[in-house]
Amino acid sequence: MQDLTAKKDALIATAKRCFDLRLQTNAGGNLSVRLESADAIVIKPSGIGFNECTRDNLQVVHLDGTIEPSDHKPSKDLGFHLDLYRIRADIKAVVHCHSPWATGYASAGVEIPCLTVQTIEKIGRMPLIPLSPQGGPQTEIEISPVFEDPKVVAAVLANHGTIGVGSSLMKAQYLAEIIEETAHIAFVRDAVMAAHGKKVADLPRFGTAADADASAPD
Ligand SMILES: [Zn+2]
Repeated sequence: MQDLTAKKDALIATAKRCFDLRLQTNAGGNLSVRLESADAIVIKPSGIGFNECTRDNLQVVHLDGTIEPSDHKPSKDLGFHLDLYRIRADIKAVVHCHSPWATGYASAGVEIPCLTVQTIEKIGRMPLIPLSPQGGPQTEIEISPVFEDPKVVAAVLANHGTIGVGSSLMKAQYLAEIIEETAHIAFVRDAVMAAHGKKVADLPRFGTAADADASAPD
């Protein structure tokens, strides 16, 4: 019970931070966290905004899909949240939001370049997942295969939003922030390059001094 209350409070705080940063307004997006028991999660229900999450409206859902009694409808994206926890034991939290810079890139069908040293270090690769073959929102069918690679911690959904996963809610939230920050920086870079007639820009090959040492010849 103590774990459940602590996880609900952490989710409420993370959702508020995401809302305050305007990464997710209205009642879209969703976020979840795995309970210590590992076989159930706490998730924001459908129709509740990131700024309106409370201990009473958050839902507890078991990994087999069983939802504890709730007055609310489950999130439309519950399926991919559950599947990510099933396929990756290291995933303890998922933040999915419709942040505008990143979603703009994804909707243009352009993968956000990992152009800062921090993005290289913290993310490495941000796969772009297209709409479902029927033209609808991405589900676990499109999303899970991308995250089967244990190195993937972030992805961007065309015409939809972003996904960050991590060993805690704060780590997943940081990724949501880095994805959005990177898309914003990429937009500025591309606009400045176009204004100055530049066609080629450098990209970092590693993110930290330790990475550089690791790639140095003996
Ligand atoms: Zn969504």
